[in-house]
Amino acid sequence: MAVVEVDGLRKRYGDTVAVDGVSFAVEEGEIFGILGPNGAGKTTIVECVEGVRRPDAGRIRVLGLDPSRDRAKLRRVLGAQLQSGMLPEKLRVGEALALYRSFYREGADPERLLADLGLAGKRGTAFEDLSGGQAQRLAIALALVGRPRVAVLDELTTGLDPQARRGTWDLIEQVRDTGVTVLLVTHLMEEAERLCDRVVIVDRGRPAALGTPGGLIAALDAPRRVRFRTEEPFDRAVLAGLEEVTEVRTRRSETVVTGTGDLLRAVGTALLRHGVVATETRLERATLEDAFLALTGRPYQDGEAA
Ligand code: ADP
Repeated sequence: MAVVEVDGLRKRYGDTVAVDGVSFAVEEGEIFGILGPNGAGKTTIVECVEGVRRPDAGRIRVLGLDPSRDRAKLRRVLGAQLQSGMLPEKLRVGEALALYRSFYREGADPERLLADLGLAGKRGTAFEDLSGGQAQRLAIALALVGRPRVAVLDELTTGLDPQARRGTWDLIEQVRDTGVTVLLVTHLMEEAERLCDRVVIVDRGRPAALGTPGGLIAALDAPRRVRFRTEEPFDRAVLAGLEEVTEVRTRRSETVVTGTGDLLRAVGTALLRHGVVATETRLERATLEDAFLALTGRPYQDGEAA
């Protein structure tokens, strides 16, 4: 049985259609990603799943519960992380966790959770004095303290430095490994590729694709890139004439060849045949960003700056 089922979800705010016909089913024990640029409708989708917003159309079930009707029961099985800025600044880590624990009849041991999330030393620290990474870890702790079967984590690593981000990714995997199903909202392609078992890509409220990151990339037949260096200049026509090659660019000693099919072998064979000595040869695989471009016709421009 799917843990979360979303079927034909639609939601508008006045004239803005925020979500338009999104469907997916999350299986037990997976990290399922809702991926897309800012404003795509991701938060609206999970807010409907959490029962915070009522859909205009479509059907949602979380472990068989209708979020619009069964919010009290839903709260016992679904852990939602609060948006940053929702905790009083002076509240201490230990107090916040005790408060959240008190909402549930059964739940996790707060001390254990703090230790697991590397916050044991921060029990007496006020929320306002936590670093970005610590605040995010507290947000995860609060989402998990009711020992939910499903955890919704929304843009958890935005604003974190790369090291804190990797730490948070490890934590999310640990959460999944304890049997919790994770619904992860992210605009970071790299995060989705690294963490998610499956993703739905949302673009302007509409579903653009659904599948495993690897499967979406493989289905594309997206261009591949081969990079290598040469000591001596060589005639680019050697490569440009190959069936597999669409573009050859050379900058100083580095050449980048874009193409399709078995590009690496085609390039390697041609270079060998013409006596060109190549070093540091690398095949760059396509990414989810390439998938987004292929699916929507627009480049994915939603990095950290957005
Ligand atoms: P995402 O989480 O992908 O960034 P959102 O679900 O937050 O996207 O927003 C989707 C669209 O709906 C955006 O165009 C946003 O401006 C709009 N929107 C979101 N919340 C509201 C709201 N409360 N009132 C009006 N428009 C909203």
